[in-house]
Amino acid sequence: KEKLELIAQRIRPFQDFPSKGILFRDICPILKDPEALTAVTDLFEEHVRQTYPAVELVVGLDARGFLFGPLLAQRLGVGFALVRKKGKLPGPTSSVAYSLEYGKAEVEIQEDGVLPGQKVVLIDDLLATGGTLYATCELMKRQKADVLGCLVVIELLDLKGAERIGSTPTFSLVQY
Ligand code: 5GP
Repeated sequence: KEKLELIAQRIRPFQDFPSKGILFRDICPILKDPEALTAVTDLFEEHVRQTYPAVELVVGLDARGFLFGPLLAQRLGVGFALVRKKGKLPGPTSSVAYSLEYGKAEVEIQEDGVLPGQKVVLIDDLLATGGTLYATCELMKRQKADVLGCLVVIELLDLKGAERIGSTPTFSLVQY
């Protein structure tokens, strides 16, 4: 409870970023406050240990999933893998395209980033429409990995991202 309040206090809204009409939720103040960052990791760790004790890998989404994911993976004693925007990873990769508000994007992982049958949790800073997490779930399916659940610091409830992701459960710390 106190941890959630501290985290919520460290989320800063910016009107009209990155474009007009968007209220951007900035998580940088969480990173600047070690107590708040520890609180995020504590709550994710608690949830995963209770809900997905069989987890074998944490998979972080480009780019702010990379900030929270490795901290959680270390706590759980499992590894961390990166899902990136297309074109950033060397070697053989696998990718899935998805549509954005304007145009298209692709999420990509190294072919040996996640192994068939591996039990993974996905992590990002924020769930909006769910397009990014949905595409990543498809990517995991293609790699034959088993997605136990998705973790986000912030969920924008109006955009119904959790519904888009479908049968994979989503856990969020702060909701707007
Ligand atoms: P979605 O695919 O769910 O529509 O968008 C989620 C992705 O966009 C996440 O990777 C997230 O980092 C980014 N994103 C969209 N809006 C915001 C925002 O207001 N704040 C932050 N920190 N990230 C956002």
